Amino acid sequence: MPNSQKAKLHTRLKGIIDSFIRALHPKGYVCLFCGDELTEANREESICDKCREKLPYRVEQTCPVCGNYYSREGLCPKCRKAMPSYKKAYAPFDFSGNIRKMIIGYKDGGKPFLGEYIARYLVIFARAMEITADYITFIPSHPKTIRRRGFDHCLKVAKIVSEQLGIPLIEPLKRIKLNKDQTKLTTEERSTNVSKVFAKRDDFDFTAIQGKSILIIDDVMTTGATCSACSNILKRMGAETILILTLAR
Ligand SMILES: [Zn+2]
Ligand SMILES: [Zn+2]
Repeated sequence: MPNSQKAKLHTRLKGIIDSFIRALHPKGYVCLFCGDELTEANREESICDKCREKLPYRVEQTCPVCGNYYSREGLCPKCRKAMPSYKKAYAPFDFSGNIRKMIIGYKDGGKPFLGEYIARYLVIFARAMEITADYITFIPSHPKTIRRRGFDHCLKVAKIVSEQLGIPLIEPLKRIKLNKDQTKLTTEERSTNVSKVFAKRDDFDFTAIQGKSILIIDDVMTTGATCSACSNILKRMGAETILILTLAR
C-alpha cells in the first residue's frame, strides 16, 4: 500500500476510534461549562479557554489565616479578636458563576459525576500551593442527607483527592445533627448552631492523629463555622495542625 493511502487510512481509523472513545467517555472532549469542543491542551481540566478566563479566581488579598478578603497586610479583625483553631483555610474560587453552578449541580442537581472535576481542581490547586498533611478528612454529612442525595458528597471528593495526592483518608468525625439553614442565621447564631452538630466517632482510634497534621476538605466555606467546629474537635483529640481546603467560598 502506498504511503499516502496508509496515511489516509490512519486518519480515518483514528477518527473512528476517537468517536468511539467520545461515545464511551464523553468526559474530556467537551467543555464542562459551555459544551464547546476542547483542544488537546484543555482536556485534562475539561474546560475551554473562554470559560477558564471567566472562572471566579480569588486573586484579591486575603487574611493569611481564615482566607477572608482583607485589603490590608496581616490578620483580619476577626482573626485578631479570636484566632481559629485551624492554621490556614485555602480556596481557589469565589462561590459564584460557573463554580457555583458546578457545586450545586454536583450536590443537588443530579450531576454526581461533577465530583470528579471538583476533586481534580482541588488536587491541581493543592499541588500548586504545595499544601500537604499527614491525613485528609472531610466535613461529614448527616445520614439523612446522604440518603436523600444517594451519596456522601464530601467523602466522594475527599477520596479522590486523597488518592491523587497520596495522603491517607481518615474518618474521625460524624454529623449528629441536621443543622438549620445556615444562610438564615447571623454569624454568632451560626457558630452556636454548628457547635453541637459534629462529634468524634467512637470507632476511630485517635492515637493515630496525635501530633499529626490534617487537611479538611469541604466544597464551600461561608463563615467558617462548620470548618471551625470540626477543626476544634480534631485539635481537642490531639491533632497538631489543621488545614482547610474548599473549592469555593
Ligand atoms: Zn467552555
Ligand atoms: Zn482572618
